[in-house]
Amino acid sequence: MSKVIGIDLGTTNSCVAVVEGGVATIIPNDKGERTTPSVVAFTDSGERLVGTAAKRQAAVNARRTVASIKRHMGTDWKQELGGKMYNPQEISAMILRKLREDAEAYLGEKVTDAVITVPAYFNDIQRQATKDAGRIAGLNVRRIINEPTSAALAYGLNNGAAQKIMVYDLGGGTFDVSIIEIGDGVIEVLATCGDNHLGGDDFDERIVRWMCGEFMRTSHADLTKDAAAMVRVKEAAEQAKKELSASEMAAISLPFIMQVGGQPVHLDMTLTRAKFNELTRDLVDRTEGPVRTALSDAGIAASELGRVLLVGGSTRIPAVQQKVQALTGKIPSKNINPDECVAQGAAIQGDTLGSENTALTQHSGILLLDVTPLSLAIETVGGVATRVVERNSTLPVHYSQVFTTAGMFQGSVEIHVLQGERPMAKDNKTIGKFKLKGIRKAMAGVPKIEVTFDIDVNGILTVSARDQDTGANQSITITANEKMSEAEIQQAIRDAEQYAVQDGFRRDLMQTINEAQMLCNQVSAAMAKAGKQLDKEEKKRVNNDEAALRKLIGKAKPDKMTENDLTNIKAAMEVLRGSGVHVVHLANNMGDGQQ
Ligand code: AMP
Repeated sequence: MSKVIGIDLGTTNSCVAVVEGGVATIIPNDKGERTTPSVVAFTDSGERLVGTAAKRQAAVNARRTVASIKRHMGTDWKQELGGKMYNPQEISAMILRKLREDAEAYLGEKVTDAVITVPAYFNDIQRQATKDAGRIAGLNVRRIINEPTSAALAYGLNNGAAQKIMVYDLGGGTFDVSIIEIGDGVIEVLATCGDNHLGGDDFDERIVRWMCGEFMRTSHADLTKDAAAMVRVKEAAEQAKKELSASEMAAISLPFIMQVGGQPVHLDMTLTRAKFNELTRDLVDRTEGPVRTALSDAGIAASELGRVLLVGGSTRIPAVQQKVQALTGKIPSKNINPDECVAQGAAIQGDTLGSENTALTQHSGILLLDVTPLSLAIETVGGVATRVVERNSTLPVHYSQVFTTAGMFQGSVEIHVLQGERPMAKDNKTIGKFKLKGIRKAMAGVPKIEVTFDIDVNGILTVSARDQDTGANQSITITANEKMSEAEIQQAIRDAEQYAVQDGFRRDLMQTINEAQMLCNQVSAAMAKAGKQLDKEEKKRVNNDEAALRKLIGKAKPDKMTENDLTNIKAAMEVLRGSGVHVVHLANNMGDGQQ
């Protein structure tokens, strides 16, 4: 089996890694870069560019360049490129394909499987869109995992002490802060907050503005009017910013940047870290609010944090690190490259899923929390969908519930497995059906049939049914293919909201009809057993009341019933409960053996 690669599909840059010899290793691209700009472009000649080549020509080919596609994931955004309309999944797929090809060139073998990371706040649709992008890129997406979780895996925190940690992620265009809990092989995101429009690009922009201002002051020329010059200015600004993470001063030199009065002019400047900090102080300060919110949403104080992890290239900025330390009182962990650790974590997760039994795999019994997107139910009397597993239950799931029979002396029951939020079986999706034969023939309500739902971490559902008395059992396994597509899932959720009121009434109706049916069965069984002990009057009253209730039940058509019909059934039940209480009591006191 080929290796499972880990992909950090970022807003600004993407990164791919793989576990080799037990170590998560970054795979460089064909230019030797360890991260690849998440930029796609089509040139005049129709050539498709991905990565640095696309980023370089962005300013002069803006119309046919797409950057930050991640911001559009899960939306109906579309763009025409080279005469064809593309959606976000297709654009992302171009980036993923490039990463896959780089990985294949590095590994010297075909790559088919990947784990891809997404921000913790991504909803189902955005996650599905990411998965679809992977599929379009020819990848079998084994898992979609949260970026902060992935960072924690890269730091190996899943193997250490139980703790709550903060992941502070300042990338090129977005800022995310997450509080996650690690314990007992389980990693869970407790809270996330952030700013979708704050990142390294804003820091670059401040330097660009400063450079243009300085150039205007010294050379009396407007750089912003020259698109080609601005491409170089932007590149130089980013370069200077990066240098200032390591040194106190950065020299910026752009020879022949512009023609002024027919003469070539050079740009030569020096930017100090102090000036850079002054230009960007408010940007750094903007991360404070989300940090406080995330902590308060997680219900913890900064002092309770075990670790603070830095993720995203912009956390290399010293002022950012100082800010994190000031906010949390902790020295942030930065021993893994912040722009690489998310991909590394994904590779570690991929390695766990793959069949290759490396050292890492053996150590990491990692359980990442994924959830059931919709509730799971089985059909019970009257077409009701009785829930066994609630929506958003954390995987893996193991739930059992005991059901019984509705008919007298039933020899088998049909288990009809449903997925959806609606109370009636017919409004949900059937995902499986099977018959449990060989149950003990008994009065309605006597057999005890235990139905168990097991869903493993890959979302594979096994439903089994067992008669507790005879031990007869039967089960089916339902794989993802038989479950709902994302569109169907979203439609089901929307429908459920729309029909909530109507459904509430029908659920009440069906429950009442079921209860009425059970009451009739209970009373008639009691009459058969102890009716002889009643006087004639009482016997007649009970029989009449039961007949009246049965008549109402027989007439009941759930689709056509009104509130009034429901009230009538409830009233008739009250009457029968009153008249039947005596005989039920007598029958109960007689025990099982007596007839
Ligand atoms: P990411 O999206 O995590 O790859 O982060 C990319 C951002 O990090 C870009 O804005 C980069 O300019 C920025 N970045 C990368 N390296 C450094 C560095 N050494 N100092 C400051 N910012 C950096």
